[in-house]
Amino acid sequence: MNRFVSVFLAGMLLTVLRMPVTNAQQAQISSKPNPQIEKIVSEISAANIEVIMRKLVGFGTRHTLSSQGDPVRGIGAAWRWIKEEMDRYSRESGGRLIVAEDAFVQPPTNRFPREAKLVNVVATLPGSQAESKDRIYVVSGHYDSICSPFSDTDCDAPGASDDASGTAVVMEMARVMSKYQFDATLVFMAVTGEEQGLLGSTHWAEEAKKKNLNIAAMFTNDIVGNTLGGNGVRDNARIRVFSEGVPSNETEAEARVRQSVGGENDSPSRQLAHYIKEAAEAYLNNFEVTLVFRRDRYGRGGDHNAFLQRGYPAVRFTEPNEDFTRQHQRVREENGIKYGDVIEMVDFPYIAQVARVNASAMASMALAPAAPSGVSFKSSRQEYNTVLTWKPNAEPDVAGYRIVWRETYQPFWHRGVDVGNATEFTMKGLSKDDHFFAVQAIDKDGNASVPSFPKPPPRPPR
Ligand SMILES: [Zn+2]
Repeated sequence: MNRFVSVFLAGMLLTVLRMPVTNAQQAQISSKPNPQIEKIVSEISAANIEVIMRKLVGFGTRHTLSSQGDPVRGIGAAWRWIKEEMDRYSRESGGRLIVAEDAFVQPPTNRFPREAKLVNVVATLPGSQAESKDRIYVVSGHYDSICSPFSDTDCDAPGASDDASGTAVVMEMARVMSKYQFDATLVFMAVTGEEQGLLGSTHWAEEAKKKNLNIAAMFTNDIVGNTLGGNGVRDNARIRVFSEGVPSNETEAEARVRQSVGGENDSPSRQLAHYIKEAAEAYLNNFEVTLVFRRDRYGRGGDHNAFLQRGYPAVRFTEPNEDFTRQHQRVREENGIKYGDVIEMVDFPYIAQVARVNASAMASMALAPAAPSGVSFKSSRQEYNTVLTWKPNAEPDVAGYRIVWRETYQPFWHRGVDVGNATEFTMKGLSKDDHFFAVQAIDKDGNASVPSFPKPPPRPPR
């Protein structure tokens, strides 16, 4: 090839790489539409979600320290019903969904005045691929509720949006998804004690950590039911997804590396949030996943914190405009203002949309290969090209890998190139000084993994 031709070809390549961003290019980063996921999305039912929520609100209060023995009112009646309902889904799925009570004794804390037995209801759908079944995706909502004062264990605490809505999302996902098979394992969890300091989720996440479980992602759905905000804005076409940029469990050594090479917007949880937006918007028309680049709302927290602190990627789903006069309130009317988290305020078709967002993202991940491991740069030296390397995935159905990239100031991965079944690829003319890169694994059906952000290579010997 003469010099003119090679310069011309290099110029063509650069032109291709620098084409303006279009939706088509953005869509390239996510998986192809999968018929199984389209069916799951179509089977999620607002009518079922309404039945679940009316039942949960009907327990009067689900305060973590309310009655455990009363058959119709209190936390005990609530968890027994959730368990029975999940058992029914299990029977309908031919027994593949494994339902268990995760019971433990919670000692007193500064927010929890006395020792008590607490129960999470946990339904597990084991993965069907040997190489993937140890990879676990968790979706949770908290079934406990609260009114004010928080110490009142018997006042009416309907907890419709906070968080019968999230519990209903989890249960409806379990009902629909348990009829299908996924490569990886799904865990549908209704947790307790959220309002007293994330007690149920902390217990489960700590046990997972002790057992060294591979929790590839965790979603918490908390306050996903109201579409009319306290600000008067009605919005039934968006859900917020909160994700942290810097890992909660980052060590000092990891912080030093990050400060040296960048990546404060590229934690595993942030990759997860990007993926959820792309996967869900591919299956839902006229519904937007709004990413919020922080761990949670200002100064607040949720069950995902328990997972983040233990090094598991996790995000929070919350409605776009909350109504603060509803949350954690005694049900009453005062000076013409209605207080209380009542069922009349929630929007069942909207909650079904939130469940579809969760289900499409979770199904996409669980059908896809694991995010590639060992992703790194071949060299930490200054270069005009960028050479990425990674380890081969173990799954037998992996067809190849995709490199995604963006300029450092862009919020989303908006460029992608399929590089075949390789473990190294050179991005010509793209410097790692000016771009961020990540690598996805793709299977034979076109299911794409969450992108893996590179770690720097070990320092070359001096
Ligand atoms: Zn909540």
